[in-house]
Amino acid sequence: MEKNRKANISRGDELIFNPSVTIRESLGEGFRILTDKTRVPSKTARRTKPRQPATIPPQTTTVYTDGSCLHNGTQSAQCGAGVWFGPHDQRNTALRIPGDAQSNQIGEISAIIIALQLTGQHEQLRIVTDSRYALDGLNIHLARWEADGWVDTKNKPFFERAAYLLRKRAARTSFQWVKGHTGNDGNEGADRLADEGARKTTPDELDLDVPSEFHIDGIQLMNTTQALAYRAVKQHLNKKTKKRRATRVNLDIARHAIHEHSGKWLSDEAIWNSCSSAELSNKSKQFIFRAIHGSFKVGEYWMNIPGFEQRARCAACGTDGESLEHILTECTDNHQSEIWNLARDLWPERHQPWPRISIGLILGCGGLSARSPPDDNTEGDEDDTPPGDRGNGANKMRDDLLLKILISESATLIWAVRCDATINGNNPSAEIITKRWHNQVEKRLHTDVANARRKNAKPALLKRVHDTWNGTLENESSLPKDWVSTREVLVGIKPAQVP
Ligand SMILES: [Zn+2]
Repeated sequence: MEKNRKANISRGDELIFNPSVTIRESLGEGFRILTDKTRVPSKTARRTKPRQPATIPPQTTTVYTDGSCLHNGTQSAQCGAGVWFGPHDQRNTALRIPGDAQSNQIGEISAIIIALQLTGQHEQLRIVTDSRYALDGLNIHLARWEADGWVDTKNKPFFERAAYLLRKRAARTSFQWVKGHTGNDGNEGADRLADEGARKTTPDELDLDVPSEFHIDGIQLMNTTQALAYRAVKQHLNKKTKKRRATRVNLDIARHAIHEHSGKWLSDEAIWNSCSSAELSNKSKQFIFRAIHGSFKVGEYWMNIPGFEQRARCAACGTDGESLEHILTECTDNHQSEIWNLARDLWPERHQPWPRISIGLILGCGGLSARSPPDDNTEGDEDDTPPGDRGNGANKMRDDLLLKILISESATLIWAVRCDATINGNNPSAEIITKRWHNQVEKRLHTDVANARRKNAKPALLKRVHDTWNGTLENESSLPKDWVSTREVLVGIKPAQVP
């Protein structure tokens, strides 16, 4: 293992897999919490016995593995694994990964699992991969992930299965990293097979079973920090209480609205991430986050609370069945339509008309300017092109950014006005509402401009701020061309007409 410490993975050095199940240096490392009682092993984990030295074949089998994913990072992602032993080798495999979890990373680690399943346990094996993720996971992070009970670690079942197959082997297994797409025959072969696998119309089978004696459950007590234990307990409980129904429904409503608007299918994770985007104000972030969670106390929530049944009715218009959708898009007496009109009036119609505002578009507004999901074979996090700077779609992306701001700020204001009315009985005039809306949106403009005028701001940001707000400004024709970067220029949005 000393050799591993010195190995330089980028230079293509081999890493030898360490097959020990746990590294126990003290008794304390043996105690684990939050374990699953149904999985206590009846026997200890044992490696397959090596054959007599004379019968071990001297040569090493080399196998190339690769993963591929179509529509990586989206709801419609489908991934494949490619395993290449040599030209026309019968063991060469193209597999489409089954199950809900689909990503390029899963394709990579699954390819290693299949390679291990296809190789005799007594054969020395060298696995060549272009995935640092899979290689580092199995050779560097595995022991720590197991000690931490896999809290916050993605793709656990795949790594566990690979670790089990590796530990069971009687012969040496080593890993070698190769840079992808550099004309290496083996890597190209695996790449083609992975792509073929991902494109299959039906998923294949993939065994992820790990016998209980090889399964390391719970988290190692000795290494536990309070924060880790807290997250572990939360995840342990989450496994039992399924995601709330309201949240699932809201995510789907948001997903369909984003798709209808921009043609993109976003995963749950992408939608959650989009509500914490820096492009939303803090108030809007909180509002949309809670709205998707369905945690506002509106309408039917009160029906079940004796004495409060009247709150199920809309306090503004008196209609039965108050809901967030009613408050934000339907109510005739709570100023929602005036506020949406203000947003529509400011909308410059540069490239697309003002959309029909629906509850889905409000819940999903964070995802409107989400960058296009990375395509096949990209890890997805290397590209830091700001949204809106991607060739053809750039105009639409900038429109979507303004749309995201207008929708999120307007919905947040409608909610604030409604709460103020319900709780404090305030009913502000149209003039006050107009002023509040104007100030709120203008504050967003000023934040954007201040960010763009900071020292070290990238030219792309200046352009993005310019193009986003272009067409919404007061006396725009008399502003200098470079109004964003000119510190002396004060800008404001067009004054709104009080209805
Ligand atoms: Zn109402």
